[in-house]
Amino acid sequence: MNPTEPDHRSLIQGGALIQGTLIQGTLIRSLHRHLLRRRTMGQRRIFVGGSIQDPAPLRETTAGESRPNPRPDPHPVATPQAAPRAAGPVAAWPRTAAAQAPPLPPSAPQEPARTAPRTPTEAVSPSEVAAKCLSLEQLRGAVAGCQACSLGQTRTQTVFADGSAQPGGIFFVGEAPGADEDRTGVPFVGKAGQLLTDIINKGMGLRRDQVTIANVLKCRPPGNRDPLPEEKELCTPFLDRQIELVQPAVIVALGTHAAQHLLGTNAPISALRGQIHARKGLQVVPTFHPAFLLRNPERKRDCWLDIQLAMKAANLPLPGSGKPSAGPQAGEIQSS
Ligand code: SF4
Repeated sequence: MNPTEPDHRSLIQGGALIQGTLIQGTLIRSLHRHLLRRRTMGQRRIFVGGSIQDPAPLRETTAGESRPNPRPDPHPVATPQAAPRAAGPVAAWPRTAAAQAPPLPPSAPQEPARTAPRTPTEAVSPSEVAAKCLSLEQLRGAVAGCQACSLGQTRTQTVFADGSAQPGGIFFVGEAPGADEDRTGVPFVGKAGQLLTDIINKGMGLRRDQVTIANVLKCRPPGNRDPLPEEKELCTPFLDRQIELVQPAVIVALGTHAAQHLLGTNAPISALRGQIHARKGLQVVPTFHPAFLLRNPERKRDCWLDIQLAMKAANLPLPGSGKPSAGPQAGEIQSS
């Protein structure tokens, strides 16, 4: 057979159907020519018995031969009553699935890659894991794999710390990452982070990489909601181990939630600030959160007094003095 010429099978598979009729020999060749003409005219189906036949029950037939019908008709009809149908809407040739498919919508914007596993893992206590970490890098890795609370399922990535982790320096502690931190993996970025950077650079005369910056929680609460008490309790061992490994001189607690959690009190930040508190052998200086200062710039002076107090406690030189501070004075340290 000429491979370029459609045989009866291809014609019939293209939509022509003879049902209930046994076609052989001369008749099939005659039908072949007829169908070729109809196909050239654009017709894809033929009428049998006055109706368009469904190709589903198609009996495969090739030019010049017929396959045995497993259930031959005992009363074959010599000539099919096939009337050509004028080309019309029903003559559409079946298109491929791709051609029929509606155009694809533009691809959706890609979310940032998530670094944390998204399936719940075997519950592991952060306190047990943190205690086994002998370095900050080990601790960072343990935090990155933590699924101890539900925030592990919704975070984009964990937010461990920023800065140099210098012993004897100042360790800033906020409450929890926000959207910018969740996206970048760096604490205190965005507008509030820029204000904290200004406090460090312009106020303290230091660079961000000369202090340590972290949060109580290492994962962002969805929608920036307040962290739940159990979330803070679960995550605090990571912060405690972080502080043990860094060995800062002073903790600066940024905002009400961080200060209250670290000091175990419900006292308002306005009552806690302005003093040095003791926690687990460390000095803690509470002050206002930079986000609060953005809304209440008149409190920046109080914040600056707190930062100076922290620098004195850390025996860091005050800007412009050129020499170490004299350290906190009697009465400036409060036990919590
Ligand atoms: S918030 Fe803390 S305890 Fe919860 S999953 Fe993140 S790292 Fe683990």
